[in-house]
Amino acid sequence: MPKRLLDQVLIIDIEATCWEGPPPDGQENEIIEIGLCLLEVATRQRHSKRSILVRPEHSTVSPFCTQLTGLTQKQVEGGISFPEACTLLQDEYYAQQRVWASYGDADRLYFERQCRQRQIAYPFGPKHLNIKTLFALQHALTREVGMARALQIQQIALEGIHHSGADDAWNIAALFAALLQKEPTNPGKLP
Ligand code: AMP
Ligand code: MG
Repeated sequence: MPKRLLDQVLIIDIEATCWEGPPPDGQENEIIEIGLCLLEVATRQRHSKRSILVRPEHSTVSPFCTQLTGLTQKQVEGGISFPEACTLLQDEYYAQQRVWASYGDADRLYFERQCRQRQIAYPFGPKHLNIKTLFALQHALTREVGMARALQIQQIALEGIHHSGADDAWNIAALFAALLQKEPTNPGKLP
């Protein structure tokens, strides 16, 4: 385990099986991609962008979902299982110990629900940051806005493809980096 845990933030964006309306009978929304990257707090540099594909067990990727996320059934069938993905997040990214962040609350709720339903240990710790809320507060918006709109407001070009988990995580990290831009008042003075 690293000694310093506040030097990096783990940025997460999940994609899930979806349909134009509610799930068809016998299917449910399941995590199929965990997009992630790391943000160095001191330099605000993003790195280690990665897409972890997760095999769904109770649903298949619809044409609608492929159109939205770019993911196909064949691709996600080659992914790892959800429990394996949770173990990987803990072992390789110290997800239990680190601060992690996502845009909105949906990603956290997806993980919580899927872990609860399958009786798998939740891979993250309690230090979750909701960048969507932080962004709205910092910009004094009257309501929270979607990621693409936030990038426009911040005048940051959207990199990659929206609704692709790894690209979304990368773009969310850019928004968070902009939020962290203010220099700390007493750098290095606090323990
Ligand atoms: P996002 O991070 O915005 O790409 O969305 C995460 C997940 O939310 C997607 O993988 C879908 O499961 C669901 N989702 C997002 N937008 C839509 C939409 N317009 N219709 C149905 N599901 C959606
Ligand atoms: Mg996404």
